[in-house]
Amino acid sequence: MSHVPSDIEIAQEAKMKKALEIAEDLGIEEADIEPYGHYKAKLSLDILEKKERDKDGKIILVTAINPTPAGEGKSTVTVGLGQALNYTGRKAVVALREPSLGPTMGMKGGACGGGFSQVVPMEDINLHFTGDIHAITTAHNALTALIDNHIHRGNELNLDVRKLTWKRVMDMNDRSLRHIVAGLGGPLQGVPHESGFDITVASEIMAILCLSDSIDDLRKRLKKIVIGYDFSDHPVTVADLKVEGALTLLLKDALKPNLVQTLENTPALIHGGPFANIAHGCNSVLATKMAAKLGDYVVTEAGFGADLGAEKFLNIKTRAGKIKPSLVVVVATIRALKMHGGVPKDELKEENIDAMKKGLANLEKHIESIKTFGLPHVVAINKFVHDTEAEIATLTDFCNSKGINVELAEVWEKGGAGGKQLADKVVNVIEEEQNNFRHLYDLETAPEEKINTIAKNIYGAQGVDFSAQAAKQLEQLKKHGWSSLPVCMAKTQYSLSDDPVKVGRPSNFRITVRELKVSAGAGFIVALTGNVMTMPGLPKHPGALDMDVSSEGKAVGLF
Ligand code: ADP
Repeated sequence: MSHVPSDIEIAQEAKMKKALEIAEDLGIEEADIEPYGHYKAKLSLDILEKKERDKDGKIILVTAINPTPAGEGKSTVTVGLGQALNYTGRKAVVALREPSLGPTMGMKGGACGGGFSQVVPMEDINLHFTGDIHAITTAHNALTALIDNHIHRGNELNLDVRKLTWKRVMDMNDRSLRHIVAGLGGPLQGVPHESGFDITVASEIMAILCLSDSIDDLRKRLKKIVIGYDFSDHPVTVADLKVEGALTLLLKDALKPNLVQTLENTPALIHGGPFANIAHGCNSVLATKMAAKLGDYVVTEAGFGADLGAEKFLNIKTRAGKIKPSLVVVVATIRALKMHGGVPKDELKEENIDAMKKGLANLEKHIESIKTFGLPHVVAINKFVHDTEAEIATLTDFCNSKGINVELAEVWEKGGAGGKQLADKVVNVIEEEQNNFRHLYDLETAPEEKINTIAKNIYGAQGVDFSAQAAKQLEQLKKHGWSSLPVCMAKTQYSLSDDPVKVGRPSNFRITVRELKVSAGAGFIVALTGNVMTMPGLPKHPGALDMDVSSEGKAVGLF
């Protein structure tokens, strides 16, 4: 068998254009481009002002059915569809999240797509990129240091150190730092208190950066961050500490979207990467809006399956950015459908039409949910080499019989050329089908109502149970005036329910919310179900063990 090149081998062969050239092709003035080396550039927010009156491009959201642990190729299809739109003569821009170094060193793989549908320079994007994540780490930890200093210097705000909610972050998977005690060593070393580390992408500052639409909005949101509670149980905020100016300053460049390109020179804005569970899991509002000013079509992605990523994109991000999506692409793979039909992980490569037919119920539920939002949609079958013709025909026939638009995507294997039909279909559906986009819930309804609406309509649950702790927190959220915020659900991505082993389309189940938290700066209430990890650990064989760099400085083994 011939050697199948790895993602990095393909990426290193890319014929990249200089970032300046990509930007010029998009009609961006030189004054608005800040190159970071040859192939990356930051784009000035002035572009949005200059193009305020220009028509917006059509925004296409790529989401998926509930995935297998290997991922179903949302990023790959996002990049591939962007390339395919350009291949077929349209002007498209891709807008994606930035990968975190924790999973990169661990095992998940990057967020750069795969095969012949990748963004490049892949190794830079997967490593330090333009330093945005480092800036967020610094801003987050600067706030921690300022809080600790405030307490050490007399604690004028009466912060109760047992109720500090602001911890520390780093962009690495490091389980041993989840719970720590800081300030040990006597009176000169600060006030002892419990703390811990989350991964940077779980920082509320990451979510804030991704939902802000200007420097002023960024500052306004940072001010609202709740850092803890005082001895009378009142929330204490960044505004009380008066450090929003310093934090905004630390983030001023990170707020600018990053321009790179795909393997086929399609422009790509890669900016922000909030966790898809305790945050909303999509790239920044600014990058999406800028992409819509620069291209006729924007292809963007939301993390996890449609029950989480698409729901949060459509209820949280569209509100924050006043974004109106044009179409949703639901990525389905034959292997995930078989998994939803009950096939064990190690048998997913073998043909099994019966299991696949059973698993189709999962896809059908997600399509129903997208319809609830009133949006046109297309199912993209992300083709793997071991998929059989009979399996693909089963999926296509199912969609045709239900009147669901469907197209094969061979973008992993063939790049843009492998997505020609998908691109044509997407454009036709946008032009021909009605767009009745609406949010799922009204912001003024009570938080428990919003959670119920999501659980019933999107997950197919019978209802929601709140733990005693969550019920108490619900009352506090209301007391502090946070009731009208949208809800950010934290739930397993592997099932429509809150139990990862319930595959397919589970029925007769309820969701349990065990904890509620506010991210007042980001502007949402987080509802936690099941076990949600905010500081992952490394696996037994971390990806890092296979990585190296040649004497010439070329990355080796990065996917
Ligand atoms: P997601 O965004 O849904 O997590 P990715 O696009 O990151 O998924 O893909 C996950 C992994 O699967 C990547 O390593 C990618 O190269 C690989 N992959 C995606 N699509 C295909 C395909 N059609 N054939 C083979 N490998 C694929």
